[in-house]
Amino acid sequence: MHRLVHCILWGTLLSAGVVLAPGVEAQNRAVVLQSAVWDTHEIPVCWENPADAPLNGQGRQWTREAVQETWERYSQLRFTGWQACTTQSRGIHIRIADEGPHVKRLGKYLDGMPDGMVVNFTFRRWGLSCAETQEYCIKGIATHEFGHAVSFAHEQNRPDAPAECRAERAGTDGDVLVTPYDLSSVMNYCNPRWVGNGKLSALDIVAVQKLYGAPRQEQVVDLAATMRFELASKAEMPARHQGRGYALTHAYPSGTQFQILITRPQPAYV
Ligand SMILES: [Zn+2]
Repeated sequence: MHRLVHCILWGTLLSAGVVLAPGVEAQNRAVVLQSAVWDTHEIPVCWENPADAPLNGQGRQWTREAVQETWERYSQLRFTGWQACTTQSRGIHIRIADEGPHVKRLGKYLDGMPDGMVVNFTFRRWGLSCAETQEYCIKGIATHEFGHAVSFAHEQNRPDAPAECRAERAGTDGDVLVTPYDLSSVMNYCNPRWVGNGKLSALDIVAVQKLYGAPRQEQVVDLAATMRFELASKAEMPARHQGRGYALTHAYPSGTQFQILITRPQPAYV
């Protein structure tokens, strides 16, 4: 099962003159193709052949969810668009086809490339066992292929991977070691759980955060304020906090005019 994602990567981009990041030992080749790291955190995505068929729409939704729950959740990466591709579309072009999922390049070399990524939603001719577990497979494939799309090479390609894992070496090699060797990586064919069950390992998270930054802390805006209900005469209308709102404690005839005063130390839009 763990060989299910068989990625075909064409054209090794680095044949000579490999440039290593500062501080990286020369023997530590692997994991990321440094030159393929995107210069932006916002990467457009489009579909080459979206269709109305239920399985098609569902597969596209699962793909997007998988990316949200993994690479986007743990880094500043944001994948945008997700509409039908045009010839002008930038970013990652995804074709849906019943064949082995793969990317044609790593990272930003996919920018604008027609059919740059291929994913499978039907599993009639490839990955037949996935026909029973479509969501699991579609999400796992998305997590793995988007790993390539943000510049990760196969973890088993590393020179420090065990020999039996290196025997499964496939696709373009990386040139920069970002973390120690990681058996649990979603990018490792040797992982006993197929593509890590679609969940980033602790070291996958460390790696993507080194490349694209940890998610920004959401700014918490304190909107604490006092509320006062007043009649036109400025007399207070007693009220008590109830659930998510307020209830006046006295009854007033309909048509009574009143105002709500909100007081807080800093300006805010309501
Ligand atoms: Zn792969």
